Amino acid sequence: MKAGFVNIFGKPNAGKSTLLNALMGEKLAIVSSKVQTTRHRIKGILSTANYQIIFSDTPGIIDPKYKLHQKMMQAVKSALEDADLALLLVDVRDDRQEVDGIFTALRLKVPAFVLINKTDKVTPEKVAEATAFFADKKYAKKVLLISALKGLGIPDLLKEIIAFLPEGEPFYAEDEISDLPEKFFVAELVRGRLYSLFEDEIPYQTTVIVPEFKQKSTLVKIRAEIVVQRESQKAIILGEGGKMIKQIGSSARIEIEKFLEQKVFLELFVKVRANWRENDLYLKEYGY
Ligand code: GDP
Ligand code: MG
Repeated sequence: MKAGFVNIFGKPNAGKSTLLNALMGEKLAIVSSKVQTTRHRIKGILSTANYQIIFSDTPGIIDPKYKLHQKMMQAVKSALEDADLALLLVDVRDDRQEVDGIFTALRLKVPAFVLINKTDKVTPEKVAEATAFFADKKYAKKVLLISALKGLGIPDLLKEIIAFLPEGEPFYAEDEISDLPEKFFVAELVRGRLYSLFEDEIPYQTTVIVPEFKQKSTLVKIRAEIVVQRESQKAIILGEGGKMIKQIGSSARIEIEKFLEQKVFLELFVKVRANWRENDLYLKEYGY
């Protein structure tokens, strides 16, 4: 039996969520072409009779411009310390020098594979160039070629990951895996609705929290709060006569029911809390 922790790192849009989904074979993280959808570490646990892999998808590595971003950088760094293996994901079309700079700056203490992703998007020559560039980097135990979206190289990657895992008993029991942070996924599903319904500014300046998640006999009662910074944003999210929030609520409920595979009663609220990005207290409260 092998068991261990694997963290996925990479710039925004490198394909971390897509890779996690490909590895898990399930829609666990929300995939968006926009950056910063994944603010938290998402854990996916792949468990079989022979191995258990605990995956984390970290927030994108970005400039610590806001306090929020600094927290995210800290989260990335601390994630490094408790993994058996890091997967450093690169979009094959990325600026290689820049990516190398980021990976070097992380000063990895754990072994790492460099995964060259989106190989379906470029010629084999371009793939070979990227492979050669990363092959001799100190942090790269291996360089592997994948297409997370098309599922290319994923079985091979899985084999290599398992080879690197320590021998040991599973960390999580089967029944624990099934009720992992459901609140978090519910919040992400609501956030996903915001991404699909609104332009850039609204989703970026918004967070979703789930203060209540109660299992009743025939359904789950969930209270979710969309937290915005300004009254004007609240008005946009509510929409005329509450039309918008109703639409968010009913589409989110359908998604959540699919995810939880049971009936859901969803209460959705919009709250204004000015400058939550800059305020440590709020950051703590919302779990960053
Ligand atoms: P993250 O920000 O690192 O989590 O990146 P995402 O997983 O959200 O992916 C960003 C975008 O790249 C999405 O539109 C994905 O569909 C796309 N993408 C990810 N992997 C691949 C791939 O292997 N090939 C192609 N063509 N697109 C990909
Ligand atoms: Mg992501």
